[in-house]
Amino acid sequence: MKPEARERAEAWLEYFDALGISPFCIDRAAPSTISSEPIAAIAEEIARPVWAARAAISNPPPVAQPVPVLPVIKSATLFAANDRVEGDTLERIRDDIGGDCRRCKLCEQRNKIVFGAGSAKADLVFVGEGPGHDEDVQGLPFVGRAGKLLTQMIEAMGLRRDDVYIANVVKCRPPQNRAPEPDEIATCSPFLYRQIAVIRPKAVVCLGAIAFQSLTGTKQSISRLRGQWLDFRGTPLMLTYHPAYLLRNPNAKGDVWEDLKKVMAHLGLKLPAKR
Ligand code: URA
Repeated sequence: MKPEARERAEAWLEYFDALGISPFCIDRAAPSTISSEPIAAIAEEIARPVWAARAAISNPPPVAQPVPVLPVIKSATLFAANDRVEGDTLERIRDDIGGDCRRCKLCEQRNKIVFGAGSAKADLVFVGEGPGHDEDVQGLPFVGRAGKLLTQMIEAMGLRRDDVYIANVVKCRPPQNRAPEPDEIATCSPFLYRQIAVIRPKAVVCLGAIAFQSLTGTKQSISRLRGQWLDFRGTPLMLTYHPAYLLRNPNAKGDVWEDLKKVMAHLGLKLPAKR
């Protein structure tokens, strides 16, 4: 295949992966990673749950892959978004982003910066992709149709929106709701890392492949890894489908509920009685 055609095909496949459309999800990893190894083993290879490994006393599994940790710095500068800052707070992160951030091209068409919302002491953080139209208008995450479904999911877990924290990988709306581009993710995601580091949740739920790929730096497809405990810098991470995907594919709601029940069990939340 010609390189331009291959690039275009790759871009489409990544797009379908990002949407979690499994029939289009083919594994484009190196052949060694797509052998007949069980899914769990592959997941372990790319994102081993460090916390789970600590519990395995009798037969310790192989040492976890080191998660890259950048040096803690004393202050963030206007144009460099560092992902760990000494004595950090959510207020400080908001200030560092600034009221009129112009670090990437998303600033050109956005209305409001959508910083994130919820409890600074939340045990659970939900991470989405980026604001849509309603979020851009209101400056709040997940307030549109997909957001209403996310609220229902949170409430089904026996929680309120205020009990959790909700943030996105990019804080400004990508035009026409396109997927955020790598340079935009690279520019903005350090602020998300700082938000998670400040909140120190017991678990992070990634809504969709873009959020997952941005947090872990991996390109694996959502259909391969959802529903398993993975790791984000020592915090248990659960990948599940994005609510916008559920609006288009209501049949996948059952899968998401299974994933959320695992999160509830991990947080010690009461599971609904079996009917
Ligand atoms: N989709 C997202 O990923 N984030 C939002 O805030 C809204 C919709």
